Amino acid sequence: MARILLTGGAGFIGSHTAVALLARGHEVALLDNFSNASRSVPPRLKEITRVDCPVHEVDIRDTEAVRQIFAAAAFEAVIHFAALKAVGESEANPLLYFDVNVAGTLSLLTAMRHAGIGRIVFSSSATVYGAPEHCPIAEIAPLHATNIYGRTKLIMEDMIGDLVRTGILSTAFLLRYFNPVGAHPSGLIGEAPCGVPTNLMPYLCQVAARQRDCLTIFGNDYPTPDGTGIRDYLHVMDLAEAHCAAVEVALGTHGTHAVNLGTGTGHSVMELLHAFENTTGIEIPYKIGARRPGDAPSCYADPALAKTMLGWTAKRTLVDMCRDSWRWQFLSAKVK
Ligand code: NAD
Ligand code: UDP
Repeated sequence: MARILLTGGAGFIGSHTAVALLARGHEVALLDNFSNASRSVPPRLKEITRVDCPVHEVDIRDTEAVRQIFAAAAFEAVIHFAALKAVGESEANPLLYFDVNVAGTLSLLTAMRHAGIGRIVFSSSATVYGAPEHCPIAEIAPLHATNIYGRTKLIMEDMIGDLVRTGILSTAFLLRYFNPVGAHPSGLIGEAPCGVPTNLMPYLCQVAARQRDCLTIFGNDYPTPDGTGIRDYLHVMDLAEAHCAAVEVALGTHGTHAVNLGTGTGHSVMELLHAFENTTGIEIPYKIGARRPGDAPSCYADPALAKTMLGWTAKRTLVDMCRDSWRWQFLSAKVK
């Protein structure tokens, strides 16, 4: 059992990871400035887990406030989720992304050093592979940023790796997520995008809920079997369990380890749409639109390293992802 601080712990992936860590008997504290999370998340976490974890409403850029949290309780590791993550916004406002993501991480790492916390599990992304030349993508594939968001992930990966190399940190897992979707089966927590969703699954859910007229499929002329883009969709509870494995391995190892987290199977937009319709019984109106600039035709993981290094593989199916995404959408819309 370890005591772990989750930055961005009230967000989509952080909140599900809190549930998984608590289920494995770890002690969890959340740090979040609630810039992209609802204040209803902590009480809902309590409803799911029956545990009242400490919640620190703090900005990671406030080094002194983070230091105080570390001074008040001894943490063995930090899982660092807190970041801004919208590609379009990052191109429109690069300084904001460098500030929150890069300067925020620098501030967190400074506070960790002061407290002598040597282990970090970091939320990276498959976006660090840019437009991949080959699929499945292994961790040794070339790294390339195609937008500011991706650039910040690469910078943060490098910063953390350098701190391990120079002995300031002992262990870092750089977890490169593919496409997290789904929600906790209770329907109490899930992804709550602000404004118009840019990702496929939340958009699909809002069309199913009749909050949007129809889904636009961004291109059906890709070199894929049905012409639509292929991605590696991963259930957020599988992703949460991968964080438990990473933290537990990190407690007994040294060094920096970049690890892909995906299922290893790609599904096209059309396949996801049909899986959603078959699972929920709801017909999804759609139209074919232009390709979205910068989109890769296919992107899916080689998840072999996650299996050997973390003993983790994704267990949940596309049907589980669609069912749980829809349950969350349906229940959260009712609460609103
Ligand atoms: P999210 O926005 O739901 O969670 C991020 C949390 O961080 C939010 O609760 C937000 O309030 C908090 N936060 C933001 N800035 C902060 C700051 N300055 N100080 C304190 N808290 C702050 O996003 P998510 O989907 O849960 O993503 C978590 C991490 O995973 C991010 O680093 C993201 O880049 C990465 N990631 C996400 C995806 C995805 O598809 N969701 C894919 C790859 C990587
Ligand atoms: N997509 C789509 N319509 C949408 C949103 C996404 O056709 O409204 C497609 C997109 O072109 C890609 C796939 O769905 O092929 C997954 O997109 P998402 O933004 O969810 O993930 P990412 O492309 O960032 O991996």
